[in-house]
Amino acid sequence: MKTAYGQFQSVLEQLKADGLYKEEQGILTRQGSQIETEEGGSCLNFCANNYLGLAGSEELVDAAKEGLDRWGYGLSSVRFICGTQQVHRQLERSLADFFGMEDAILYSSCFDANGGIFECLLKDDCAVISDELNHASSIDGIRLCKAKKYRYKNNNMEELEKCLQEAQDARIRLIVTDGVFSMDGILADLAGICQLADQYDALVMVDDSHAAGFVGENGRGTPEACGVEGRVDILTGTLGKALGGASGGYVCAGRPIVDMLRQQSRPYLFSNTLAPSIAAASLRVLEIVKKDGWRREKLQENTRYFREELRKMGLDIIESTHPIVAVLFYEAEKANQAAEAMMKQGIYVRSFVYPVVPKGKARIRVQLSAAHSREDLDRALEAFRQLAQ
Ligand SMILES: *Cc1c(COP(=O)(O)O)cnc(C)c1O
Repeated sequence: MKTAYGQFQSVLEQLKADGLYKEEQGILTRQGSQIETEEGGSCLNFCANNYLGLAGSEELVDAAKEGLDRWGYGLSSVRFICGTQQVHRQLERSLADFFGMEDAILYSSCFDANGGIFECLLKDDCAVISDELNHASSIDGIRLCKAKKYRYKNNNMEELEKCLQEAQDARIRLIVTDGVFSMDGILADLAGICQLADQYDALVMVDDSHAAGFVGENGRGTPEACGVEGRVDILTGTLGKALGGASGGYVCAGRPIVDMLRQQSRPYLFSNTLAPSIAAASLRVLEIVKKDGWRREKLQENTRYFREELRKMGLDIIESTHPIVAVLFYEAEKANQAAEAMMKQGIYVRSFVYPVVPKGKARIRVQLSAAHSREDLDRALEAFRQLAQ
């Protein structure tokens, strides 16, 4: 056997020894509040990004089927050769309109969108300034560009200002932040960021994957929730979370930025077009998000109730209003055991330990959905109550 295989094997064994080896659950059903897994049987799902309860819905299965019939299975082409159908153009227009931006461009995923932005827009005489807790895709995208890199502590506006001062001579300054930090469920300080961006003539990019469709009164995300709509230059997001849950990503921005990406962004140019059935179903999603305000309201009410009940039990949670609820157990062992105990009771949650979260900050991350009934929430709360005792 070639020596590399043995070396990979020992890395994997080390991961297992450290409790970092991820086992995947085989799911036998559609996505939803109640699912069935191969190993764990029937359980309530509290770890999906299915915030609005649309993943697995009959309505989107129908919309995707109609799209499949109308536009076919796939295009066998990237966008600029022969992979652009009307449905892709319509979705780009609708995303831009929904988020109140000039234009939009689709990618196969938000990971690709974030991977393709920085190298395209920023050259070696530019500066990119990013929050330390940003998603891996922005981190990797930034690695691919030659701009000078600065990093500030999570939501720390003093540090951000220092970075902006140091980057004064750069041709372009771009501040990059997640709208919601996914391990903590807290929002970025977009008011502070936009104010500094104005003061120091910087562009602002927000990755709103964990907010698009449900944060803000109309679901337009963290810019809406933070009152900075019109002041964010680049808004990226995924179609794979609240907005249907299949796959696909987008960048909404001013026309020159979107045009630059269409011309020169590598994951856009060199990767296949989004499946038309997904594009068609995503158009339906935007309609649903606009008309079904009750989904956002139910999600908010579920979040409010769940957070309040956990607080009453004396469990430590990270304060926020977001449906990501981080329940702190501090020690990795405790968080892992807690997640296992909950799975035994039919509550599917995941624990997160170092290096995904800081040492000594191990936690269970609960994700609420509009698909959860009050009874579902009470069952999960009962399982937490047993842990709290
Ligand atoms: C999930 C997520 C992504 C990746 O989105 P995909 O479309 O699944 O690639 C990117 N950024 C953030 C902040 C995310 O939460």
